[in-house]
Amino acid sequence: MRRSLRLMLIANSLYPVNAVLAWWAIRAGHMDARFGAVLIAYILVGPMLAYAAIRSGWSRRFRDPMMVFPMCLFCIGSIILAFGGMVVQLRGLVLAILPLVLMLGQFNLPPSQIRALGLLSVLGIGLVTLGRWLSTTPVEHEFARDVVQMVYIGGVLLVSSKVAQLVSRLRHDLVRSQTELGDALARVQLLATRDDLTGLPNRRRMDEILLEETRRHARQGTPFSVALIDLDHFKRINDTLGHHVGDEVLRRFAERARAALREIDVLARWGGEEFLLLCPGSHAEQAAVGLSRLQAGLAAQPLLAEHPTLRVTFSAGLTEHQLDERIEASIERADRALYQAKDAGRNRWVQTP
Ligand code: GH3
Ligand code: MG
Ligand code: MG
Repeated sequence: MRRSLRLMLIANSLYPVNAVLAWWAIRAGHMDARFGAVLIAYILVGPMLAYAAIRSGWSRRFRDPMMVFPMCLFCIGSIILAFGGMVVQLRGLVLAILPLVLMLGQFNLPPSQIRALGLLSVLGIGLVTLGRWLSTTPVEHEFARDVVQMVYIGGVLLVSSKVAQLVSRLRHDLVRSQTELGDALARVQLLATRDDLTGLPNRRRMDEILLEETRRHARQGTPFSVALIDLDHFKRINDTLGHHVGDEVLRRFAERARAALREIDVLARWGGEEFLLLCPGSHAEQAAVGLSRLQAGLAAQPLLAEHPTLRVTFSAGLTEHQLDERIEASIERADRALYQAKDAGRNRWVQTP
């Protein structure tokens, strides 16, 4: 927006220059005084109103808040007005500014609008020329000069409009490929941090989260607990009902666990049918509440509606991270506790200090 505003100020600086030229044209008798006064007011007040509309934020309601297209139209209008009001000998000069409008437009406008501006310019000049022919007695050499002028300016406009369209298209393509690249990067990031099957953070992402949490713990002393959760006799589910049902169990288990745990708890797929739970800000006793809620939920309602007799249970090892220990040490402790839970008959968790 700031860049566009700078561009607009550069372009608008031409208006006062042209106002001075119009004033000179009136003084020198090249332009009707009343017509010239209206023209000067038009080219001085218009840009100021546009600038105020943009700076005040009023123009934000439009799709193009910089109002580039209306301002280009305004500019072309002022050029055609000046062309119509200037004496015949000098009016060709006025048209020299027209390609500049298209050049400036290429930085903000889509190709279709640049084409429209080019066509409107030619049409405007054509109409003014036609109006002159109709309102004055035809003089042979003036007619020829007007035709040459029309063809010449038409050609210049055609070429500059084509170039501006090309630049505008290139700019649009660049913006589009940048957006696509950004989307692709976001997708790659998601793939690198999420487990495909369950949508939970994967082990790599969990390693980062655990490291952050360990640093926070070292700095602020906020407690946190971790639990390794392993589904009981999961191999049997695969063997009896098939691998796809096993997959569905993992997916539903992840959903159930997310619903049973607190918003700030992080559950990750640690591997196979093993999950790692991180409970930030929790002593082991507080983390156990979540595990107990999850266990009760699994007992109360079958995980798969299509297999109502299938009971899925889990065993877990729960521990609280200790000050100055490495996170790997906490996870090893949780792992040992998990084995104790399995040995003790499964469907339970064991808490180690
Ligand atoms: P335990 O109670 O001792 O944990 O017994 P278990 O059968 O759950 O443990 P085991 O380690 O013997 O078997 C785990 C099985 O999980 C073996 C493996 O094929 C299966 N498994 C691992 N990842 C996936 C997966 O993504 N989808 C499915 N369907 N099965 C998986
Ligand atoms: Mg298991
Ligand atoms: Mg296992």
